[in-house]
Amino acid sequence: MGNWKDNLIDIAPYVAGEQPKKADFIKLNANENPYPPSPRVIEAIAGFKASGLNKYPDADATPLVRAVAERAGLSEENVFIGNGSDDVLALCFRAFFNSGKPVLYPDITYSFYPVWCSMLKIPYELIPVDEDFNIRAEDYRRENGGVIICNPNAPTSIGRDLDFIREILDANPDSVVISDEAYVDFGGVSALPLLKEYPNLAVVQTFSKSRSMAGMRIGCCFGGKDIIGALRAAKDSYNSYPVDSVAIAAGCASIADEEYFRETVGRIIKTRDRLTAELRKMGFDVKDSSTNFLFASHPGYRAADISAFLKTKDIYVRFFNKPRIDNHLRITIGTDEEIDALIGALKEYIK
Ligand code: PMP
Repeated sequence: MGNWKDNLIDIAPYVAGEQPKKADFIKLNANENPYPPSPRVIEAIAGFKASGLNKYPDADATPLVRAVAERAGLSEENVFIGNGSDDVLALCFRAFFNSGKPVLYPDITYSFYPVWCSMLKIPYELIPVDEDFNIRAEDYRRENGGVIICNPNAPTSIGRDLDFIREILDANPDSVVISDEAYVDFGGVSALPLLKEYPNLAVVQTFSKSRSMAGMRIGCCFGGKDIIGALRAAKDSYNSYPVDSVAIAAGCASIADEEYFRETVGRIIKTRDRLTAELRKMGFDVKDSSTNFLFASHPGYRAADISAFLKTKDIYVRFFNKPRIDNHLRITIGTDEEIDALIGALKEYIK
């Protein structure tokens, strides 16, 4: 007789950035935005009519779909909204990668991709990035059951241009190509202008980073009618109402405040460029970042040791104990004060 425990899921789940339980620390390990969401979002939540919560939310988050579509110059049939982009990406894997052939993605990228493949029993093939951590478009010219590229890539922070993504799309007319653009607003190049030419393109973005709404869970996918239709069908096959009424209202309020969005994104870019220069002065190798984080290593110090030292100063950065990147740190851009504290601590350690 088998044991019921043998039937439980056996999977190595995604490990998120540590969430320390203490009150006072500087958290630069989860690529969160250090600024609050737009005041309009705060007002929308404070003024939300909670008495209406007895009713289910709009199943397709239609008001938010409309707002997001309008901002992107697309129509409602081109936009899907889900419960954070992790939820949207998981649905994309479910909806698009059913051929039985391996899905391709870089060996160094968002570490949730192998978890979804494993969960959904999707075969995959890791394509090594080059020694400078660049993804090579020409490596994606081989038989596959789909392609997912994170652009700008995480944790490397490297962004690529439209020709790069076009080259991958041209090589893959028979597969769905997903562009995961979680960080694109911080200086990346979006594949959105290619949607009209490539019906097999899916562009995934999030409200968690540039819109300061990680705690709310809103993500979206842009695509042609067939791509979005498949996602809606996948959604309605597991949870019809992934986006709650409060999130729909708050998301619409965020989209309505373009000025605040631009202002806070601009501030983060400025702080990022300042930190890049400071780290380089200290001898760090820092990739040019198109994101709200830096990917850095130091020839004279081990990343694990730097990270451990920073923790003693209550500063948390991300260290990955994984082949190829185990001497790198991923440092989220915080407020100017937080980054000043980081620079001060590093100056104590790096002699
Ligand atoms: N894609 C990438 C590359 C990410 O780094 C993250 C954040 N961990 C996500 C997607 C998911 O973000 P969210 O679910 O908050 O939208």
